[in-house]
Amino acid sequence: MEKPILGGCLCKKIRYKAMVKPKWISVCHCRMCQRAYGTTSATFVAFDKGNLRFTKGSPTYYQSSDIAKRGFCSACGSPIIFNYQSLDAVFIGTLDDPENWKPNGCHLGIESKIPWDIIHDNLPQYRTEDDPEFIEASRLAKQGTKP
Ligand SMILES: [Zn+2]
Ligand SMILES: [Zn+2]
Repeated sequence: MEKPILGGCLCKKIRYKAMVKPKWISVCHCRMCQRAYGTTSATFVAFDKGNLRFTKGSPTYYQSSDIAKRGFCSACGSPIIFNYQSLDAVFIGTLDDPENWKPNGCHLGIESKIPWDIIHDNLPQYRTEDDPEFIEASRLAKQGTKP
């Protein structure tokens, strides 16, 4: 890939960069994401661990479960990153060019999808407990490796 993927928070105190294409881009409709981001769903742009780095500032983290933590900017409050053991996912709205990326993975947390939030694509839909990444993260957490 010739151009890096760049992004950051609203107040610009935090900036990140990825040199590889996202592993996947998926939409989560679970209640935790709804609460964490204050909206009906969250679109995750996921990278394998190590492919995304912060070039300016660093997020403050909230450990939202045994297997995940959520990073945000402590100055402006922008949600920026979601971490599992094996991946780092940024939120699509924090990219500098969100228009160039669209979901290609799946819809997660479908059990909590808000009925009027209509899905307009044919990507697979999973309940949280059936999400392969969630299953893998839970397996690693049981072995004692936390994110
Ligand atoms: Zn900020
Ligand atoms: Zn979620």
